[in-house]
Amino acid sequence: MKKRRVPISTETEKCFVCGRDAYFLLEEGACLFREAQCEHCGAGKRNSDVARAVLRTCLGSEDGCLETRRAELAPLCLYNTQAFGALHDHLHVLPDYVCSEYMDGVPPGEFVDGVRCEDLTRLTFDDDVFDLVISEEVLEHVQDLDAALREVRRVSRPGGHFIFTVPFNEHHRTRKRAALDETGRVIELLPPVHHGDAVRPEGALVFTDFGRDLPDLLAAAQLPTEDLVFGSWHRPEEVTWISDDVSYAAYRTHYEDGTLFSAFRHNSHVFVACNGKPVTHGRAVRKKRTDWRRQLEALHRKLLRQFEENETLHGKLRELGEKYGTASAYAHALEEERERLVRHADGLRRQVELVDADRKTLTGQLEEAGTYAKSLEAARADLAAQAGELRKQLRALEADGDALRRQFVEVEAYAKSVEAERDDLAAQAGELRKQLRALEADGDALRRQFVEVEAYAKSVEAERDGLIRQIEEASSYARSLEIELGRQSATAGVDPHLLQHDAPTDPDRRDVPTGDEP
Ligand SMILES: [Zn+2]
Repeated sequence: MKKRRVPISTETEKCFVCGRDAYFLLEEGACLFREAQCEHCGAGKRNSDVARAVLRTCLGSEDGCLETRRAELAPLCLYNTQAFGALHDHLHVLPDYVCSEYMDGVPPGEFVDGVRCEDLTRLTFDDDVFDLVISEEVLEHVQDLDAALREVRRVSRPGGHFIFTVPFNEHHRTRKRAALDETGRVIELLPPVHHGDAVRPEGALVFTDFGRDLPDLLAAAQLPTEDLVFGSWHRPEEVTWISDDVSYAAYRTHYEDGTLFSAFRHNSHVFVACNGKPVTHGRAVRKKRTDWRRQLEALHRKLLRQFEENETLHGKLRELGEKYGTASAYAHALEEERERLVRHADGLRRQVELVDADRKTLTGQLEEAGTYAKSLEAARADLAAQAGELRKQLRALEADGDALRRQFVEVEAYAKSVEAERDDLAAQAGELRKQLRALEADGDALRRQFVEVEAYAKSVEAERDGLIRQIEEASSYARSLEIELGRQSATAGVDPHLLQHDAPTDPDRRDVPTGDEP
């Protein structure tokens, strides 16, 4: 199963190969930090650090990146001891770039599948050729280190640079892990260690562990060397990218007992050696040499240029001759052209005559047109007078219109006042209707009271009639009593008028209510 890849640092850093701010990613739990890859371009952390050293040493500053500045390296003669990888991918387009791989059993200088084979201990290049030799993780696999350093120095021009990386342990001195005997057989001095290799599937055997005396070894080989440290991870607490506890505990144990392989701890050392003198950083300028071959080539090129110029002059002379030949032909053509023009002029004269006749006809037509124009002018004056009259009428009508408009406005205002009045009257009518309804209601109540009073009056009348009848009865009874009394008085001698004092004398007299009042 493919492991998750995690950044080796919590912060991004510039990738000097592609120039972008990048996390460098490593498989979770892995410790080979130099192989962590730029999240953008895939270049290794080691590639980025070597690119940075190249910029600083050969171009004088760490600005930009290999991708944007490689053209500035074009004047230099470069040798990469590797024919693969991020640096090769960017540098191989340069005009004076050479790369190679070591291949078992292939004679140095031969090509296999387009890849040049070289043995670092016996290079096939001339002396003093290269301005820059690059080697990444190669020297530890070379069985004869001294021979390799001699060869690097031989093919480098004086002052040329050798930029390289190796697994490095500053806590130890350099030591041999393996050697070859006279027959070429490997003698293992320490348990064998193999590194992954682009050419050999079984990996490459490590012959040398490099330690703190590495710069001294190179200085002794006339290659004064600087150790550029672009990143180091010393303390376990800085190792944040080991996320599983087991790996982390292992790292801490190795760190504390000092057995941690230095490649895991300081794997960002880039060494810069200089052929024959102390390392300087600055823009590398290729040394000028008296190169007879180049001078001959330049002379040859100059002669070629002169020959080409002579050819051009000959061509021009030929052109002039041809031009002279063509000049008489041209004169003849001009004569013909002149005759043609004379003929053309005759034609034009005839056309002028025709045009003159046309002109006369047109003059007659023009006179007729003048007469017609005059009549039109008279008609126009007449029409103008009519128009003046019409304008006057229009103005009068406009004045009428204005008067009418003013009247209309007044009438409108009056209508509005009438409307207002009407609305007022309508309101009053409404009010009166309301009063009327109230009066009608009062009338109904009065009518009902009247009916009641009438009924009451009738009952009172009936009562009165009853009383009248009673009075009449009483009167008739009284008269009958009077008569009886008279009769008895007559019988007894008493004046009957004395007896009439309290009795009613007028039977029609009415003291009871008449019914006119309630
Ligand atoms: Zn990158």
